[in-house]
Amino acid sequence: MRPEAIRVTGLRKSFGALEVLKGVSISAREGDVVTLIGGSGSGKSTLLRCVNFLETPSAGQIVIGGEEVLCRADGRPKDRRQIERLRQSLGMVFQQFNLWTHKTVLENLIEVPVHVLGLPKEEAVARARHLLDRVGLAQKEDAYPAFLSGGQQQRAAIARALCMQPRAMLFDEPTSALDPELVGEVLAVIRSLADEGRTMLLVTHEMRFAREVSDHVVYLYNGLIEEQGPPEQLFGDPQSSRLKQFLKSVT
Ligand code: ADP
Ligand code: MG
Repeated sequence: MRPEAIRVTGLRKSFGALEVLKGVSISAREGDVVTLIGGSGSGKSTLLRCVNFLETPSAGQIVIGGEEVLCRADGRPKDRRQIERLRQSLGMVFQQFNLWTHKTVLENLIEVPVHVLGLPKEEAVARARHLLDRVGLAQKEDAYPAFLSGGQQQRAAIARALCMQPRAMLFDEPTSALDPELVGEVLAVIRSLADEGRTMLLVTHEMRFAREVSDHVVYLYNGLIEEQGPPEQLFGDPQSSRLKQFLKSVT
């Protein structure tokens, strides 16, 4: 069996008195596309952010590539350097593209590989060009983000994440901020990553896409997993009345 890339067990997260995640467990083996669906406020982003340590879990265990994240008794990370290292192994793509606006596309891609990882610049540039070509932006390496469409910016953001050669990709509603006519070009890139066997956790409201690309789908409701399963089952034969209602509301 393929090794586990990401495992989350009993994850809880509270913001003050508000408990947003109430004990969530998910797992992705290498090459799996695991998709999180659910209504606004159900905890999807918080879950991804905890996997990437942008949020500190209140309780639970996170294991990345077989390595358990070490926590203190109060749940805070024990080892900052471990967190940095593991975070670098996960490529995160947000709804808002988050490119550095004062850097060109190429500079966006090589910044962290060169200045944080210490990769020789020529190597980083070669890697970046290869990835820009893959996402259809070979002609745009000298452009500033403001001169790109939303779809181009998001493809650049995906290429930037890939430049770190991540173990897995985390996508949080990567097409939600795009004009409808630009959604397809970004989904095509994500689909090509899935097809080449990349591991990913994906949050999306694109249900048709989720059905086609996912190995496993998790429906979150109010901080808990309400239902999960293979896409044919979850979309084709949902059991929970909440999930049925949700699917009606988004399709
Ligand atoms: P989703 O991505 O499924 O829409 P989120 O994970 O963003 O849901 O949010 C779940 C809940 O947690 C929401 O009620 C949201 O307001 C709350 N929340 C998220 N982040 C914070 C934060 N930093 N501080 C306080 N509340 C937060
Ligand atoms: Mg969200």
